[in-house]
Amino acid sequence: MTEIATAPKVEEKLFQNRYLVDAGKPHIRVREHETPSASLLAMTRLCPAGCYAVTESGQVEVAADGCLECGTCRIVTRKTGEVEWNYPRGGFGVLYKFG
Ligand code: SF4
Repeated sequence: MTEIATAPKVEEKLFQNRYLVDAGKPHIRVREHETPSASLLAMTRLCPAGCYAVTESGQVEVAADGCLECGTCRIVTRKTGEVEWNYPRGGFGVLYKFG
């Protein structure tokens, strides 16, 4: 009986990446809001890096340290303008590992 190689999980692949955090200068910010729009709320499920979370008081916050720079939150919240999105400064952000 031959053994079938299993593909690594996405979480295992993401763990290979490294991040250089630009302390105090996050490249993504959530603008102040009372109640998040459905689009912003959806980011707590859509962000592949799990950067978005709901606070105890019901607002959505982002911790951009593990951001993959995929741009999903930029596109999803484009119409509501709740997310301020920029690329990290040169030399900071995600460092992808291939192979
Ligand atoms: S750009 Fe992608 S990985 Fe980064 S916070 Fe937005 S959805 Fe998450």
